[in-house]
Amino acid sequence: DRMVTGEWQQEDSAAELSLRPTTLNQYIGQQNVKENLRIFIQAAKMRDEALDHVLLYGPPGLGKTTMASIIANEMGVQFRSTSGPAIERSGDLAAILSSLEPGDVLFIDEVHRLPKSVEEILYPAMEDFFLDIVIGSGPSARSVQIDLPPFTLVGATTRAGLLTAPLRDRFGVMSRLEFYGIEALCDIVERTSDIFATTITHEAAIEVARRSRGTPRIANRLLKRIRDISQVRGEDEISLQTTEEALDMLQVDREGLDYIDHKLLTSIMDSFQGGPVGLDAIAATIGEEPQTIEDVYEPYLLQVGFIQRTPRGRVVTAKACRHFGRELKDE
Ligand code: ADP
Repeated sequence: DRMVTGEWQQEDSAAELSLRPTTLNQYIGQQNVKENLRIFIQAAKMRDEALDHVLLYGPPGLGKTTMASIIANEMGVQFRSTSGPAIERSGDLAAILSSLEPGDVLFIDEVHRLPKSVEEILYPAMEDFFLDIVIGSGPSARSVQIDLPPFTLVGATTRAGLLTAPLRDRFGVMSRLEFYGIEALCDIVERTSDIFATTITHEAAIEVARRSRGTPRIANRLLKRIRDISQVRGEDEISLQTTEEALDMLQVDREGLDYIDHKLLTSIMDSFQGGPVGLDAIAATIGEEPQTIEDVYEPYLLQVGFIQRTPRGRVVTAKACRHFGRELKDE
């Protein structure tokens, strides 16, 4: 079980509902995305239309699901939620779509994982709000068209490039969520601690923010663990010292890296002389899926400049070498 993955884990489930902001104003950070959406939402409401389809993309845990539910709330419509892998047959999607009320938001997480046959019935549904389905088989098969209420599809994916071009083209709004800065994360930590009815010192909140890999889900998860330790120690507010000790105990280092990051980075240094090395070779060496490395582990390491992508593969940077107290081979 990894503390510092942005991916959803079972232990997140209890807290996440209560921690989820419900309005654009409560949603911390992501200024550009918020400003754009605020205008689109206002315009759609003035025209009394459904909002254009929205694609939200970015690493896990940055607030895509949260933003989707805020869109529904701000539009004053129902929020329905499902995911690409959960819709196996086109009939499943047809059932969901035909149960929507005008203007509703349908959120599809991991929208790049919709089966091909399902994706195809989504095209006319998104474009002209009708379903084109084939009933029966063989010579008696016939195609029927069913009108749908206008709705808003909000799709989420880790990378926009994973979508097929025809699907991507049908989103009127594409918003990329960025890793959060320390200040925004610190605000999130303080907000969460309010909701938990605990107090955290500002320095402690900053330390949690620093080690959360730019990711609200990780910040909230770390805070939950630190709060337990602080409480057992009988503190009336979460101190910096307890925070540092707790994070060290959880083996989350000063940059928010854990053993998997260490393994990934040191294996490039030790087995591949710092790179360049291909993703598949790294994956084989550390025993992880290339896709997981690319979507979950690597984006933050790229963002903070510990690795770089070159045409010939990944290389570790001087910054990474310094972090591990090593010399760069050409220094
Ligand atoms: P994603 O769908 O991108 O994986 P989520 O929307 O599920 O991420 O967000 C994970 C958790 O992080 C949520 O439960 C929410 O509490 C918190 N969170 C995400 N973005 C924000 C934000 N901008 N402000 C406050 N909390 C946030």
